[in-house]
Amino acid sequence: MAKGRARRILIAGGGIGGLAAALALQRRGFEVVVFERADSLRDGGAGLHIWSNGVLALDHLGLADQVLEVAPVQHTAHFTTDRGDVLGAWPVGDFIERYGAPTIAVERSVLHGVLRDALEGSPLRTGAQVVSFDQDADGVTVHFADGGSERGDLLIGADGIHGAVRDCMFGPARNRFSGYIAWRGRAPMEHADIPPGTFNAIFGPGTRFTYYDVAPGLVHWMSVANGAPGGRDGAGVRDMLLRRHEGWAGPVADILRATPEEWILRGDVEGRKPEKQWGKGRVTLLGDAAHPITFNIGQGACQALEDALVLAEYLAEDDDSVGALRRYEEERRGRTGPLQNIAWMIGKMGAVKNPLLIKVREAFMRKNWNTRAFTAAEKDQVAYGLRWAKKDRAPVTGRAD
Ligand SMILES: Cc1cc2nc3c(=O)[nH]c(=O)nc-3n(C[C@H](O)[C@H](O)[C@H](O)COP(=O)(O)OP(=O)(O)OC[C@H]3O[C@@H](n4cnc5c(N)ncnc54)[C@H](O)[C@@H]3O)c2cc1C
Repeated sequence: MAKGRARRILIAGGGIGGLAAALALQRRGFEVVVFERADSLRDGGAGLHIWSNGVLALDHLGLADQVLEVAPVQHTAHFTTDRGDVLGAWPVGDFIERYGAPTIAVERSVLHGVLRDALEGSPLRTGAQVVSFDQDADGVTVHFADGGSERGDLLIGADGIHGAVRDCMFGPARNRFSGYIAWRGRAPMEHADIPPGTFNAIFGPGTRFTYYDVAPGLVHWMSVANGAPGGRDGAGVRDMLLRRHEGWAGPVADILRATPEEWILRGDVEGRKPEKQWGKGRVTLLGDAAHPITFNIGQGACQALEDALVLAEYLAEDDDSVGALRRYEEERRGRTGPLQNIAWMIGKMGAVKNPLLIKVREAFMRKNWNTRAFTAAEKDQVAYGLRWAKKDRAPVTGRAD
């Protein structure tokens, strides 16, 4: 494979990872083209937590203030039982002082929109499904479902957990079903029990419920329950969820009742064990395509943002672009592998159904959640973002402060 500096970089996938990579690479002077399978960018339907490390990455791209115009700053993460007993409370608002950037909640569509609008020119091609690629000493050619093809110097597979680019390199991915399913929705509502900037996670037997505001008057929620993959909901899904969480403490029932049924999305939760290889020659992976992280630690999108910045840094600093891809992979595998594992373990803990094991879980959380778990989350997940903290930058605080 010939050494040399890449100029034209192809990106498969226009999710948060692909868009962030495109932007970070443009900012470093590369020409990019993003190929998105869907006819339009995925526009919402769910909320995300972007921890301070992700907000620092957004700030590095010059986008944090824009996102913060809409996205509420998070002050406290509450963890309780379905009976309303407190298991822990994390003062995530303190991150502003320690990292210069808050943890926020945001609608996925807002983040997509801000990233897309920041791109220069028109690098995004929708309705372009990558099916395969081939590469030689001088470049890489991607092939599309409609028979077309495109040539570039490098290819980044940012096409998600079921991505084609990864499978083209290494064969079918060994994705694993977590054993639980997530129903997500949005409720247009204000509620006395949902103060702005609070994340709430409620743990029940084999089921969980989380909720937080993602914009003024808009509450995002998720109901998670053990079950078999591949199921579908008909009409009456909201009533089913109301029955599942009947008698739960807090505003759970009010949130579900306020949610239009057509705003409820269902998805099997999948993950993958960390993999030893992400790339070959002129091709690499980024985001969920490389390292799917189950939602349990709220880091999947944050890591995709980090990937994008690190990849752009390595490519900009090295005249050997293929070598830069391997160095990017090495650093990011070390960062994301442990997060894949810890998210999977927390998911297992959340899925516990046996009454005895629930008692053990609750005792464990009461003892460790505010201390060891919070410290570990901050040290292992958030602190990495400090590499993008700007010394002369006033703390990013946002609308809610
Ligand atoms: C229930 C749930 C809650 C979550 N909560 C959080 C959270 O709070 N915080 C957080 O940081 N993360 C969270 N995540 C994880 C986060 O959503 C993902 O990690 C993140 O979206 C990954 O972005 P991505 O761009 O890598 O992949 P994706 O979002 O999957 O985007 C991939 C894109 O590629 C396109 N594509 C696929 N195949 C092809 C192809 N062959 N050709 C062209 N395009 C293709 C797809 O249409 C899609 O647009 C959550 C995930 C789930 C499921």
